[in-house]
Amino acid sequence: MAATTTSSMALMKMMRFTDSSPSSTAAVSARVLPFRNPGRLHFQLGSTFRRTITTHRDSISSSNSATAFCCSSAVTASVTAESSFNVIDGKKVSKEIKEEICAEIAEMKDAIGVVPGLAVILVGERKDSATYVRNKKKACEAVGIKSYEVCLPENSTEEEVLKHISSFNDDPSVHGILVQLPLPSHMNEQNILNAVCIEKDVDGFHPLNIGRLAMRGREPLFVPCTPKGCIELLHRYDIGIKGKRAVVIGRSNIVGMPAALLLQREDATVSIVHSRTKDPEEITKQADIIIAAVGQPNMVRGSWIKPGAVIIDVGINPVEDTTNPRGYRLVGDVCYEEASKVASAITPVPGGVGPMTIAMLLSNTLISAKRIHNLK
Ligand code: NDP
Repeated sequence: MAATTTSSMALMKMMRFTDSSPSSTAAVSARVLPFRNPGRLHFQLGSTFRRTITTHRDSISSSNSATAFCCSSAVTASVTAESSFNVIDGKKVSKEIKEEICAEIAEMKDAIGVVPGLAVILVGERKDSATYVRNKKKACEAVGIKSYEVCLPENSTEEEVLKHISSFNDDPSVHGILVQLPLPSHMNEQNILNAVCIEKDVDGFHPLNIGRLAMRGREPLFVPCTPKGCIELLHRYDIGIKGKRAVVIGRSNIVGMPAALLLQREDATVSIVHSRTKDPEEITKQADIIIAAVGQPNMVRGSWIKPGAVIIDVGINPVEDTTNPRGYRLVGDVCYEEASKVASAITPVPGGVGPMTIAMLLSNTLISAKRIHNLK
């Protein structure tokens, strides 16, 4: 699920207890792969916002509370143990990106007295959705993005939601609009999402944005957050994409499909595996890069992986774990224990792609504010 979509919390409710890993608790020694700190958001599409995020550590000296966040320790990768595979640390990378965003926002505020604004519309009383909205708000505050929130009761009408979207569309202090999904069943999700103006569609789900992503020579205004986070991880770890064979498992509108389009734009040769694919193991085994976004715990086994492949595991699946005080633990779509013996690098779950999604949402909001205010 994407930035606006309730994901793991919702999954708790329909928890799958089908962990196919041979041993769910075995410890695997891992080396944390050193990543490049490029001082800017590596992954940008199109010249309009190429290299828009730069690190300005030297300028982070004010007492601004947002900048205080940036001044926390520099992110450095560490070697945790000698071993045969590398961990792609999304938590660290996302922290680094948030620091960069924070510095840019402080600079923007100094230059034009404006900070980016993100509006979130929440309909209903789902606890998981409320938690996600709260987390987004906290992340915004930490980097200096102003957040706006509208919470509507479950029995609100579609017209009421549309009215709020329209008012955020017209509000110059709002640069990004999110409608928290899922919406109550009496609402037409498509109508509502299409009402968000494309210039503020920081989730990147608008058909125009996706259409542009799919077309050569066209640039989307926004790239969906989770796939964008996957590619950013590859870039930050200097993992080459051009000319590589990539397999994306899953073809959802919010993760699998845009991830495949992004890899293709980066000159990978891409195959997509989905629920009707015959012999997914054979196809996946050919990949230099695997992005798994399925929602099936530990589906991708060691035997599916070419030695040395790089794995980005998007899946977040709760599986029963009586040893855990919560009664469950989160696992990915890839059997981490087996993969770690074959792959050259892999994202853990949790702590891999998850933290990148929110970082990319903040990044998209900043990109939007800069574009609206004509800043480079
Ligand atoms: P969807 O359910 O929308 O899509 C799942 C995709 O996987 C579909 O394309 C489906 O194929 C395919 N699939 C399902 N079963 C199989 C199978 N046995 N073999 C091959 N393909 C299969 O899920 P999402 O894309 O929204 O999410 C995928 C996972 O990523 C979930 O675990 C979710 O929680 C997680 N997620 C994590 C995020 C993060 O920030 N880390 C953000 C968003 C999602 P078909 O199209 O044929 O039905």
